[in-house]
Amino acid sequence: MPVIEVDGLVKTYGETRAVDGVSFEVQEGEIYGIVGPNGAGKTTIVESVEGLRHPDAGSIRVLGLDPIADRYEITERLGVQLQESRLQDKIRVNEVLDLYASFYRNPADWRDLLDRLGLGSKVTARYADLSGGQKQRLAVALALIGSPEVAILDELTTGLDPQARRDTWETIEEIRRTGVTVVLVTHFMEEADRLCDRIMVIDHGRIAATDTPAGLIQRIGSEQRMRFRPSEPLDDALLTGLPDVTAVTHDGAQTIVTGSGNVVHSVTSLLAQRHVIAQDLRIEQASLEDAYLALTADELVETGSEVR
Ligand code: ADP
Repeated sequence: MPVIEVDGLVKTYGETRAVDGVSFEVQEGEIYGIVGPNGAGKTTIVESVEGLRHPDAGSIRVLGLDPIADRYEITERLGVQLQESRLQDKIRVNEVLDLYASFYRNPADWRDLLDRLGLGSKVTARYADLSGGQKQRLAVALALIGSPEVAILDELTTGLDPQARRDTWETIEEIRRTGVTVVLVTHFMEEADRLCDRIMVIDHGRIAATDTPAGLIQRIGSEQRMRFRPSEPLDDALLTGLPDVTAVTHDGAQTIVTGSGNVVHSVTSLLAQRHVIAQDLRIEQASLEDAYLALTADELVETGSEVR
């Protein structure tokens, strides 16, 4: 059974159709990414799933329950990281965790949670004395303190330095290993690529695509490009004769081979046979970021004689 089922979700604010007929399912145990430009409708979608917003149309089921009618039951089983969760400056980390733990029937051991999030030494620190990254990780701890079956994390690593970001990713992978289903709203394609099993791309309130990270990348072509400086002169015809090669060009002393499939293997085998070394070899491939930009590129829409 899917853990989250959303069917035909619509939400308008005045003239703005913030979410315009979005349907998706999140399966148990997966890390499901929601990505899209600012204002695309991501927060409206997840806050509707959390029961914080009332949709105009469509149905939502979380663990088989209705987010609004079954709010109390869902709160016990769904952990939510609020964007920029703000706590009182003077409250201490242990106080806030004790407080939040008291809201749940089956709270997690928060000391263990803090250790896993690298906050073990901050137990008695005041909220105001935490760095941005530490506040962020405390927000993740609060999302997980009720031992939820599903966690929704919005802008998980915004404002974290690269090391803290990587540490947080490891924590999320660990949480998933314990069986928690994770929905991740993110701006960082590297993060989505590393963590998510599937990604939904939202643009202007609609789904632009739903696929695995690799599947999204493939949509914009699976060509690979190899750049290298051959240690010995090499006849282009040998390269163009290889089955997976589509083009061979030159940029100064560099040879650039474009192709698909097993092009890297074909070219390196040929070079090895000929005792040619590929100096400064670089292999370039489309990234999730490229795919995301292609999927969310704003096209100029013509309306009569005007272009808006
Ligand atoms: P995202 O999370 O992808 O940035 P949001 O769901 O926050 O997108 O917003 C989608 C659209 O709905 C935006 O145009 C935003 O301005 C509008 N919107 C969101 N919340 C409200 C609100 N409470 N009142 C009016 N407009 C809103």
